[in-house]
Amino acid sequence: MYLKRLEIQGFKSFVDKTVLEFDKGITAIVGPNGSGKSNISDAVKWVLGEQSPKTLRGGKMEDVIFAGTENRRPVGMAEVSLIMDNSDRTLNIDYSEVKITRRLYRSGESEYLINGSLCRLKDIQLLFADTGIGKDGFSIIGQGKVDEILNSKSNDRRGIFEDASGIMKYRMRKEESERKLNNTEQNLVRINDILGELERQIGPLEKQAEKARKYLTLKYELRDIEVGDLVDTIKDSSAKIEEAERNISIVEDQIRQTEEKLENVKRENQEKTEKSKALEEQIFREREKGHEIGNLIERINSSIRINENNINTLKQAVERNDMEFAELSKRNVVLQNDVSSVEQRIAPTEEQLEEAR
Ligand code: ATP
Repeated sequence: MYLKRLEIQGFKSFVDKTVLEFDKGITAIVGPNGSGKSNISDAVKWVLGEQSPKTLRGGKMEDVIFAGTENRRPVGMAEVSLIMDNSDRTLNIDYSEVKITRRLYRSGESEYLINGSLCRLKDIQLLFADTGIGKDGFSIIGQGKVDEILNSKSNDRRGIFEDASGIMKYRMRKEESERKLNNTEQNLVRINDILGELERQIGPLEKQAEKARKYLTLKYELRDIEVGDLVDTIKDSSAKIEEAERNISIVEDQIRQTEEKLENVKRENQEKTEKSKALEEQIFREREKGHEIGNLIERINSSIRINENNINTLKQAVERNDMEFAELSKRNVVLQNDVSSVEQRIAPTEEQLEEAR
């Protein structure tokens, strides 16, 4: 395993994306004072999880974000990625290249990623445990650090050897176990306190429990009584409901019969209405006929009157004729008498004529 590449952007003096390739072996970075050499090792410490702004030579963590120069405006985010060659699987992850990324925004929000996936700082620390690489390890030795090692006390030097010998992981786990143990002990103390408090409360609680039991007993009795009442009420109500249902059924029958009657009456009404209409029409027709007959009678009366007049006239004529007839009869008699007398007078003449012939 070795450091393959470092990508820095927006971190301290590296405002633009800067990619540093590290070959196997030794890579030396040279540059004038203040050109940013230490910023590179700061970037490595930072991406491995350094939390102390002082260690990163700043006042607060935000100071690692490019703060701007005369010619460049400040940026809102610092991002550093460390790419390790893991072909030999030194890191316990099944990738031959492992990319560790840390981001920090001016809002204070920060992110850690392993191969592009969000993760916790702890995941990164566990990944590098026992590799000798880490923010506290001695793989990164800053300015003045060599003097510090040489002048350190034997106890501090022990840390260096522990780190180098690979028992760092166990130390971390031991520290975590001790922290957990400590927490558990504190929890135990709290639980004992609570137990003591609860024991003090037992007496009054027993009295309250007795009261509660009595209350429950009474409550159950009350409930039984209420249930009994309820059952009676339900029985009464059921009987009433049955009676009401019977009544309803009778009323429904009556309604049905009334509806049938109503239906019949309606039908009859309908028939009567139709008949009445027919009668009205007939009356109308009869009236029309009556009018016609009236007119006819009127006409007949007038013709009767005319005929009566005619009859009168004829009667008068008959009377006149009768009188004339009587007159003529009389004259006839006279004439017949005349004829007879003439015949009597002509008879001798005729005999004479006959004789003459
Ligand atoms: P020396 O050889 O003296 O140790 P160096 O090459 O290690 O110097 P660094 O200390 O890495 O240089 O870089 C310091 C430079 O980084 C300074 O010019 C400083 O202005 C710049 N710098 C540090 N933090 C920021 C920041 N947040 N924004 C912009 N520039 C920064």
